[in-house]
Amino acid sequence: MSPNLPSGYSKSSIDSFAEEIGKYLNFNPLKDSIENVIKQLGGKIEYVEDIVVTEGSMEVKSSKDFLIKLPQTALTEKNNFTLAHELGHYVLHAKAGKIPGVFSRPLIGSTTDRLEWEANWFAAGFLMPHGLFEKMHKQGNDLWALAEIFKVSYKAAEVRSQFLNL
Ligand SMILES: [Zn+2]
Repeated sequence: MSPNLPSGYSKSSIDSFAEEIGKYLNFNPLKDSIENVIKQLGGKIEYVEDIVVTEGSMEVKSSKDFLIKLPQTALTEKNNFTLAHELGHYVLHAKAGKIPGVFSRPLIGSTTDRLEWEANWFAAGFLMPHGLFEKMHKQGNDLWALAEIFKVSYKAAEVRSQFLNL
């Protein structure tokens, strides 16, 4: 089995790529649920006992066959980001199932693993597309409002805002 390697793409390339994938999947971040996207792609979601760091929090078996484990008491907005993060691994690192693998989930911000950074970049670009996020910001929505609009945590909206220099 070949290892799951980082794509090596730049942060901004992954950002645009995530947005393109979102469009391709007809995902509207303002209306649609990321859970449905995962299911549409053949992924299954399992809610498990709370775990902060898990080995094997996603297993990609083959194309259209992957399982994501989520902590059952985590906030929806936190789980939304996690689902988008795992989608990033599925697309970027498992090549949509061509390269099976098991992915662990380190604490956000605690990792120097490029694989994890890339998945986070993907998640941000997927859930908070550049243009749409800027537009909502210009309409006067503050970070709390933006977090609610995009169904992410305040922290995720803040990081996104900083990245886009808003
Ligand atoms: Zn990960």
